[in-house]
Amino acid sequence: MARLVMKFGGTSVADIDRIRNVARHVKREVDAGHQVAVVVSAMAGTTNRLVEWCREAAALHDAREYDTVVATGEQVTSGLLAIVLESMGVNARSWQGWQLPMQTSDAHGSARILDVNGAELMKRFDERSEVAVISGFQGLHQKTRRITTLGRGGSDTSAVAVAAAIRAERCDIYTDVDGVYTTDPRVVAKARRLDKIAFEEMLELASLGAKVLQVRSVELGMVHNVRIFVRSSFDRPEDIDPHGNPPGTLICNEEEIVEQQVVTGIAFSKDEAQISIRRVQDKPGVAAAIFGPLAEANINVDMIVQNVSADGATTDLTFTVPAADYDRAQDTIAKARKDIGYERLDGATEVAKVSVIGIGMRSHAGVAAKAFRALAERGINIRAITTSEIKFSLLIEAAFTELAVRTLHSLYGLDKA
Ligand code: ASP
Ligand code: MG
Repeated sequence: MARLVMKFGGTSVADIDRIRNVARHVKREVDAGHQVAVVVSAMAGTTNRLVEWCREAAALHDAREYDTVVATGEQVTSGLLAIVLESMGVNARSWQGWQLPMQTSDAHGSARILDVNGAELMKRFDERSEVAVISGFQGLHQKTRRITTLGRGGSDTSAVAVAAAIRAERCDIYTDVDGVYTTDPRVVAKARRLDKIAFEEMLELASLGAKVLQVRSVELGMVHNVRIFVRSSFDRPEDIDPHGNPPGTLICNEEEIVEQQVVTGIAFSKDEAQISIRRVQDKPGVAAAIFGPLAEANINVDMIVQNVSADGATTDLTFTVPAADYDRAQDTIAKARKDIGYERLDGATEVAKVSVIGIGMRSHAGVAAKAFRALAERGINIRAITTSEIKFSLLIEAAFTELAVRTLHSLYGLDKA
């Protein structure tokens, strides 16, 4: 017997038929003798509609009332799933965030989970074999007694938090893809599903644009050591052997990964823009003069490359920002020109960032050097490079993105046979 969390996203609960299908998945685990907590999202499209209604009601609205409205989508699906489970003869009870409670900060619209009380759920597992059906995405701010929500895609994070609270063996995320791939399969036909990936690697992949999971859920999984299993909700419940090894990707501690590859995956993003400040003063306080105003303008700076000055007086500094913030970033720098002191501002929007990720890089030398050679052979120019312990990122011309990703995917032996 194991204790499991099963999380189903919006497309899996889009209508009553699909909710029935979800219930069959749940029943399958219950019949196999497991204790189950289910976390559900709102029906597909529902949250978007609720958000839209708030905007229509008033362009500027109180975030507390926004949360009151958008949290309702999950209440509907948790109730419906409990009804369907009961009709199938499975004991079930729905739980809203405030009932557990799922305590959060008061950052309405993007609250952080502080504590989840799983005691009552565990008691009912033991006493009544009751399935807990929990509304994802929502919580309670204890002091103000207000409903909060966790930010879009937050049900993943709810699920991992519940798994930590009830000390579940695994948190299964049922979604419309059957796992985490070495890179985007729409770009590289030879992309392979990973059996396992370490939390740290998944964090890099997720924050670099692989949209499988909310990034915070992976952070939470890493902190509490909750094993997260990404699997398909389209597999028919009848076809799954509850004691077998279903297809999917396990996100886990690196110690659990026996056959560690040097490189695990390749992420890329075309929504990047490059800004270069030429002949900027090389003296203390200049970086602060540049990045301070950008931070105040809420512009997320990513790659930063600064050269060591040749003449001891001036140097060049390059960084990237989201393409959507390109104009604003240039304006911000231009406005601070007096404080910064530079000769010229250059930039480019037709750029892409390609990142190679793998915890094996910690213990292997020359991983990046191989990439530079391979890209050079294909005539791909590298505009900027940044590295960390488990990844390196290259800024290249956007037109070469696919070629670069495919080249690196083969180079590091990630192509499927
Ligand atoms: N329903 C919420 C959203 O659409 C939360 C979630 O689905 O994870 O963002
Ligand atoms: Mg989602």
